[in-house]
Amino acid sequence: MMQKQQRKYPTECMLCAEKLQEIPMQDTEMLRKFMSGQNKILPRRKTGACAKHQRTVALEIKRARDMGILRFRGQ
Ligand SMILES: [Zn+2]
Repeated sequence: MMQKQQRKYPTECMLCAEKLQEIPMQDTEMLRKFMSGQNKILPRRKTGACAKHQRTVALEIKRARDMGILRFRGQ
C-alpha cells in the first residue's frame, strides 16, 4: 500500500496567532515553549509553528544560548 500520509498540524503557529513577527531574545519564556525538557529545539511537527517562525525561533534560541540566557541541552 502506497498511501501518502498527510498529517494535519493540530494548532496554528502560535506566533502567527499572536501576530508577532519576531521574538526578542530575552523572552525566554516564549523561547522555552519551543524547546524540550532537555533544552533541545523542538521540530516543527511538535511546535506547530510555520516555517518562517520556526526559523526565527531556532535562530533566537541559538543566539540566547550563546549569550548564556538559555542553557545548552543536557544540562
Ligand atoms: Zn508563524
